[in-house]
Amino acid sequence: MAAILLAREGMEVTLLERDQFPRYHIGESLLTSAIPVLKFVGLYERMEAHGFVRKHGGYFTLKEGAPPGHIDFRKVSVHQHSYQVIRSEFDHLLLQYAAEMGAQVFERTAVTGVDFEGDRPVRARWQQQGGSSGELEFEYVIDASGLSGLLSTKVLHNRKFQPAFANVAVGSYWKGYDEYVAPDGTPQEGRFFMEALRDGSGWIWAIPLHDGTMSVGVVMHTDEFQRLRTALPTEGAEGGADVEAIYRHGIDKAPHLRNMLAKAEMTKPVQTWRDYSYIADTFSGPGYRLVGDAAAFIDPLFSTGVHLAFLGAVSAAASIAGRLRGELDEDAAIGFHDRCIRKAYVNFAIIVSGMYKQIRRQDEVVLYGIAQTDFRAAFDVILPLISGSADLEGDAVDPNTIDRAVSFAIEMVNERAQLGTENPAARLLVKKGSVHEDLTAEPDQAVGGWYIRMERGRLGLAQVVEQEKIDKEKQQLTNELLEVAQSS
Ligand SMILES: Cc1cc2nc3c(=O)[nH]c(=O)nc-3n(C[C@H](O)[C@H](O)[C@H](O)COP(=O)(O)OP(=O)(O)OC[C@H]3O[C@@H](n4cnc5c(N)ncnc54)[C@H](O)[C@@H]3O)c2cc1C
Repeated sequence: MAAILLAREGMEVTLLERDQFPRYHIGESLLTSAIPVLKFVGLYERMEAHGFVRKHGGYFTLKEGAPPGHIDFRKVSVHQHSYQVIRSEFDHLLLQYAAEMGAQVFERTAVTGVDFEGDRPVRARWQQQGGSSGELEFEYVIDASGLSGLLSTKVLHNRKFQPAFANVAVGSYWKGYDEYVAPDGTPQEGRFFMEALRDGSGWIWAIPLHDGTMSVGVVMHTDEFQRLRTALPTEGAEGGADVEAIYRHGIDKAPHLRNMLAKAEMTKPVQTWRDYSYIADTFSGPGYRLVGDAAAFIDPLFSTGVHLAFLGAVSAAASIAGRLRGELDEDAAIGFHDRCIRKAYVNFAIIVSGMYKQIRRQDEVVLYGIAQTDFRAAFDVILPLISGSADLEGDAVDPNTIDRAVSFAIEMVNERAQLGTENPAARLLVKKGSVHEDLTAEPDQAVGGWYIRMERGRLGLAQVVEQEKIDKEKQQLTNELLEVAQSS
């Protein structure tokens, strides 16, 4: 996405991709925030034509017996929906479109190192599958290398893991499943479905896809995963129970999902993912930006990965384009990207941590400040943050709702939810008292006085004063028109 955005601005972009697309990837459920980005770059019609499942929201069964939390995108987003995608197809679409927009795309080409001169990266070393290698000089580098996070893990050494979310995910695909039926009896086609495991040891996702299969994964802490390896019958396997046994054991502890899969058949071997949450100390510096999983990763409970990746791509592209056009100095550009991503990450980290608190304590209702048996109220409050709309769709969200959502998040932090006040992210919030400063600045999505100007040919960062000036001029013009209308 970063390559698409910059190529469309007429920048010279080279994209080096280690694999050959299409290639398998996890991360199939998107938030509504993807829609304005896809529309902005001109990919929305292709997404529609491709036939991906339209996602109108999701159901979250946090506690057996309590009505599930329901996220209804129609309530919070002007876009009304997002998609559940087969990532190999979605990612391929993006890669091909980057080339169409003018980026030079090289697949099967891994970046093996990045050389710095002083504090600025100046060249990448690459190695192609099949032998050839070389170097590439640049003005800016965007590291979008995902989990492997080349700059963060090999050069800057600034990735910090969050032990509370040291999870493992185990998943596969099913066909012939039954759709989720909501408590009011209506089948929920295309919805994301989440269910806490009955013993509080984790949770499970169910994502219907357009090839007729459903992605189903179990997430649990790595300690629990290791415990199950020895606790479950091994059937002669060396090194403990195999991952399929652990996976099926997880499904057994999710009665709704178990029913949905009663007549279904598993279509692929079970896979595992290391699902540790982490965050880099810094996401940008002179000449570089980190985006997506290369910058930070938060547990997939609310399907935030692609949202954060797109947000990072937009912020990196805008801060680089703005800088190259001389609209702002390097410090301001770096500061913007850093704060923009951190704000989004902290919002999600806090809310996910609150939800985990409930997932782990199945015997009682622990979500702070919420009616004893009903999680619907909680979901109404945190909806804009979870749907990603608070980061990318300022106009569509009522500022009061965001205010309430943030207060809710802060209450959870003060409650010392899983994240605890020892966590730097939580401390940041507590110290500032609130993050209202960032979330309610004018115009809506300003960060540190700058906001992203989503205009083709002028993609960049604009200062809040610029918007105020435009608003004042608009107001003046309206007044003048009114005067003319009244006097005539
Ligand atoms: C179990 C699980 C479930 C998830 N579910 C969801 C979900 O439902 N919704 C959601 O939005 N997110 C989900 N995520 C998160 C999501 O997968 C990621 O956040 C998202 O894919 C990040 O995108 P990215 O572009 O940063 O990285 P990636 O999609 O991983 O892309 C990185 C690319 O960089 C390439 N690369 C790596 N190293 C190099 C190198 N040295 N040189 C050149 N190329 C390189 C890789 O080949 C890859 O193509 C989930 C994650 C997990 C673990």
